[in-house]
Amino acid sequence: MDLYDIHTYNLVSDDSDDPYHSYILNVFPLGYEDAVGSYPKCFFTCGIHPWHSEDAEAQLHYLEEIASNPHIVAIGEAGLDKLKGPELGIQKQVFERHILLSEKLKKPLIIHCVKAWEELIALYKQHKPMQPWIIHGFRGKPELTKQLVKLGFKFTIGAKFRPEGLRLIPLEAMFCETDESELCIEEIYRAISEALKLDFEDFAAVIAQNVKSVFPDLIVNDLEHIGIEGVD
Ligand SMILES: [Zn+2]
Repeated sequence: MDLYDIHTYNLVSDDSDDPYHSYILNVFPLGYEDAVGSYPKCFFTCGIHPWHSEDAEAQLHYLEEIASNPHIVAIGEAGLDKLKGPELGIQKQVFERHILLSEKLKKPLIIHCVKAWEELIALYKQHKPMQPWIIHGFRGKPELTKQLVKLGFKFTIGAKFRPEGLRLIPLEAMFCETDESELCIEEIYRAISEALKLDFEDFAAVIAQNVKSVFPDLIVNDLEHIGIEGVD
């Protein structure tokens, strides 16, 4: 069975039989080259975390240069955080550059959002994105969840989640992640499927279908068609 980890900082994050094709590693722009050198078959999401969005111009420029690389399958994590990082105005400017890049390159956006939901929703309505906006580590309350679902957001769920909110997310808008957790992706799939009272394999099959539609490159075994040379 294929288990997919949409957002992780752990280099070899799980015990799946094909770890190189089943997860998306998050890297900062200046860390990308080293990461791709060490893990040439890996897929990445690349962006500037809101905590580090102060004086980010050089990183942004570099991101804009490398983001079209086929190894990079999503933009982010990027977003807004009212508890940490520089003032929200700065975070917003940096986040908007990620939004534009995601739309321009037709790559999904992985979002970090803490206590800035109103601002996030305003940006969503303003930009009317065609690309999926995937909120990572989502553990929102039911009312917020309903609002985001209605607007068309997608969600990646990790080790910590709020079951009441989780149950309101349509399965086709859901992904799973380890992020920085020590749990492996299988344990996270298990916890979520149990909270949803779903059979583990049925749940995994739906998530695999979601991955196939949003991140089709993760499924393939032959990377050459997207311009990545196979290296062992
Ligand atoms: Zn985050």
